Amino acid sequence: MTHSQIRDIVIVGGGTAGWMTAAALSKVLGGYAKITLVESEEIGIVGVGEATIPMIKLYNQALDLDEDDFIRQTRGSFKLGIEFVDWGRKGESYIHGFGKIGRDLGIVSFHHYWLKMFAQGKAAPLEQYSINTAACHDNRFMRATLDRPNSPLADIAYAYHFDAALYARFLRQYAERRGVVRVEGRVVHAQQRGEDGFITAVQLDNGQSLEGQLFIDCSGFRGLLIEQTLKAGYEDWTHWLPCDRALAVPCASAGPLTPYTRSTAREAGWQWRIPLQHRTGNGYVYSSAHISDDEAAATLLANLDGEALADPKPLRFVTGKRRKFWDKNVIAIGLSSGFMEPLESTSIHLIQSSIARLTAFFPHAGFDPVDIATFNAHADFEFDRIRDFLILHYHATDRDDTPFWNQCRTMAIPDSLQQRMDLFRSSGRIFRDANEMFAEVSWLQVMHGQGMRPASYHPLVDVYPEAKIGPYLDNIRGVIHACVQSMPTHEQFIAANCAIG
Ligand SMILES: Cc1cc2nc3c(=O)[nH]c(=O)nc-3n(C[C@H](O)[C@H](O)[C@H](O)COP(=O)(O)OP(=O)(O)OC[C@H]3O[C@@H](n4cnc5c(N)ncnc54)[C@H](O)[C@@H]3O)c2cc1C
Repeated sequence: MTHSQIRDIVIVGGGTAGWMTAAALSKVLGGYAKITLVESEEIGIVGVGEATIPMIKLYNQALDLDEDDFIRQTRGSFKLGIEFVDWGRKGESYIHGFGKIGRDLGIVSFHHYWLKMFAQGKAAPLEQYSINTAACHDNRFMRATLDRPNSPLADIAYAYHFDAALYARFLRQYAERRGVVRVEGRVVHAQQRGEDGFITAVQLDNGQSLEGQLFIDCSGFRGLLIEQTLKAGYEDWTHWLPCDRALAVPCASAGPLTPYTRSTAREAGWQWRIPLQHRTGNGYVYSSAHISDDEAAATLLANLDGEALADPKPLRFVTGKRRKFWDKNVIAIGLSSGFMEPLESTSIHLIQSSIARLTAFFPHAGFDPVDIATFNAHADFEFDRIRDFLILHYHATDRDDTPFWNQCRTMAIPDSLQQRMDLFRSSGRIFRDANEMFAEVSWLQVMHGQGMRPASYHPLVDVYPEAKIGPYLDNIRGVIHACVQSMPTHEQFIAANCAIG
């Protein structure tokens, strides 16, 4: 069993995807292969992408990063979930929090007991049974306590908000310290092997040629190698995820530092608000078929917490995924692999999971087709399940006040999503599909938050005496409330642990 080994890796692109990949590979490979990253300052990076989901902690831990140092250096803050305002109906809001909700009772999930009592007006809102969402309402934050495993304080699950440019800089320093060689220049041509089309080198505008065995395309939306050279193809999801433009603008901070991202539905899309220590990031993600750029800019600027700190930055995209994520000796990571819009902060996570897949399927220099096919099948599954979760937010709405929302509410949706919605509407049942990204409690919070109400609940709930369910729910809610009161505010926590100087 002898195989020639990959000793030369070229990463094209130095945005979040390029530097996350370079940093992780430099740690994992530890000098086994030479890693070169080429990027062009003239082209620049997308430079947005400031909200994350809890899995990013695993990435940072794999790199042995000190969390407080990481937060300080990226001027970050903590995120317990996302508040959705005006999505199901105007004037209503809900929080999709990370982590657990309630405590399961026997073999039946907590939410079925809650559904039974809520339908009779005998249970409080769902958000009061989760430490994450209850803490969001009070602007409180702390890390999970590990010494009291039965306390809700042990269940706190969090992610980060950070400055995307500072994160890329932070990772660049990390990767360069571990031997990654950065080359400045614009790739103008990819040289391919005659017999099979594998890429052998990329040529730069200054005449330099970078040879490699494995090429990682982190060149952003343009997909320089995966699309422009190899023509892997793109599956367009605009008919399900119709937003195709965004305007991003930072503003001065105002009010308390919230431990959550806010997403407010607007006339033709939605606006994000991401609180950092030194400023607040904002953006309007919209459908250009339903609103002009000028109107979108006016809406965004009229809805900031504080003074705008720059002109709105325009971004264009087509929602969808690459038909092949790995083709020949090129693997697409980041925006070159697809983009499903930032509603649930999944893009940076998809970079991370692509890196994990790359290390799991790390090739030998012969490139086995079965590795490539399996890698692509896993990536397809991950993209498709996240796609369904995002479409749910747009489709499960009562809003009929604008052409955009009418289109979203009445559009045809993927069968896989329709089946999930039908199942929940009928019996409140939710099943996680294999190891898909979003767990049952995420689907529950969004389906309920958007206004979906099941006709029934799990029949086995009735095995448990109703007289005992009320006190059971009250106890969970009371303990969570007491725990939240014992937590510091988000600002106090940051001041004590990781404030910028
Ligand atoms: C509006 C919007 C909001 C977002 N918000 C979030 C969020 O909240 N959370 C989240 O997880 N994600 C978010 N994302 C996604 C996130 O921004 C990206 O996943 C992330 O920035 C990775 O981008 P990238 O590195 O793939 O591409 P880019 O940042 O575009 O980097 C591409 C790199 O390739 C280089 N390059 C390109 N062509 C060449 C060439 N010819 N020669 C040399 N170099 C070249 C460029 O110089 C650059 O270094 C958002 C995206 C958008 C559009």
